[in-house]
Amino acid sequence: MAKSNPAPGWPSFPAGDKTSLRALLGGLKVSQWWPAADLRAAQQAQLTWLAGWAAAKVPYYQREEWPTQFAARLAQNPGQFWDIWREMPTLAKPDLRALGPRLYARSVPSAQLPFGSIRTSGSTGISVELRTTATTRRLWEALTLREHLWSQRDFSKRLGIIRSRKESRDAIDPIQPNWGAPVAHLFPSGPSSTIRIGRPVAELAAWLRDFDPHYLLTYPSIMPWLMDYMADTGDRPQSLREIRFISEPLDQELETRLAEEWQVRSTDIYSANEVGYIAFRCLEHGALHVQSESLLVEIINDQGQPCMPGESGRVVVTSLHNLATPLLRYDLGDYATVGEPCACGRGLPVVSQILGRTRNAALSPDGQRYWPTRLNRMRTVAPVNQAQYVQTAIDTIEVRVVLSRPLREQERLDAVRSTIAALGYPYKVVVVPVSEIPRGAGGKFEEFLSLLPELQN
Ligand SMILES: [Zn+2]
Repeated sequence: MAKSNPAPGWPSFPAGDKTSLRALLGGLKVSQWWPAADLRAAQQAQLTWLAGWAAAKVPYYQREEWPTQFAARLAQNPGQFWDIWREMPTLAKPDLRALGPRLYARSVPSAQLPFGSIRTSGSTGISVELRTTATTRRLWEALTLREHLWSQRDFSKRLGIIRSRKESRDAIDPIQPNWGAPVAHLFPSGPSSTIRIGRPVAELAAWLRDFDPHYLLTYPSIMPWLMDYMADTGDRPQSLREIRFISEPLDQELETRLAEEWQVRSTDIYSANEVGYIAFRCLEHGALHVQSESLLVEIINDQGQPCMPGESGRVVVTSLHNLATPLLRYDLGDYATVGEPCACGRGLPVVSQILGRTRNAALSPDGQRYWPTRLNRMRTVAPVNQAQYVQTAIDTIEVRVVLSRPLREQERLDAVRSTIAALGYPYKVVVVPVSEIPRGAGGKFEEFLSLLPELQN
């Protein structure tokens, strides 16, 4: 086991040493233009190294047979790398929970210390802790900057953030003099302000008006309500030019509405706690590019074979540089569609659409599985402040609604009709008023939630 540089053939990422943030960012500026085949070759070298690392250092992988078989088969058939790679079993979130610290490497190169940790929790609410390293954290910072630079944001402008924050109970932080890390590490920047996503919509609107950010970072689920509220009060943000969406899939309808009503550009960032950033949009064509220098993304069909452009499948990821908790072929429980290569010229593969988690999919009695969109039209037919659609049985949808006043019978009927229209199937729809609909881990709001056993993961 080589202890020096864990990434031979990966010149941008000498992951074993203390490469500076600036140098990492410089490397990323070059590697994004590498031809796809060169990126794949560099990933292949890193994955080979990483599998060896896991087999040598990680208790779980040490006990499994396949890492040894993987190395032996690769030695015999070096040209068959990807076929051999795909025979490796995938890990899923329940495996993380079951394996716990057996997934931790017993040590990492000292240059990658100190360890950090990330917590991730699923629908069960049981959290799993994964370890990170100084290298993975610096790579996260470099990718954050890459995303800003791709979108050509003007750092001198105001940045507003609406998100969940565990570390503070204050509704609004004191205004910060800059955009914070990592932007402030390398660039001068303008003021930023953060408000918690759980605040009432009137408070969010007042904050948006008073701080008047040029850029906003938030979750898609809050925006239709905020836009409706501001439209009712004849208000709109004056300086806002772009919203960066995180945590939940961004649907086309919201993006179009923001462009038409507020003349605001949308971009979305695809990420997961366990592995960090997965894909960013390029400014040129709006294509979601996989961050191949940081992770391998496989989109595979039910037979475990790679999907072709236009096909959708499960998202399986391998973080290339996390030596502390190597997750080889981790099944995120997400579905996504493979895109064509982008005309911007970046060799980074394209994901054309993120469909979402399996448990956020609907299943109709005729066997169709799909991710519902246009559900937030509910607010136009009834006095609904918030709505969540829960599939409780194969033919039944429970619509949980937070109401500003009791529903009239006609409004209830309209809500049922609107739900059936949005879902495209004549489900039995039950409207259930509730006092609140809590957000999940990290503030994520699940607009559609399946309780069917076959869609849990
Ligand atoms: Zn592109």
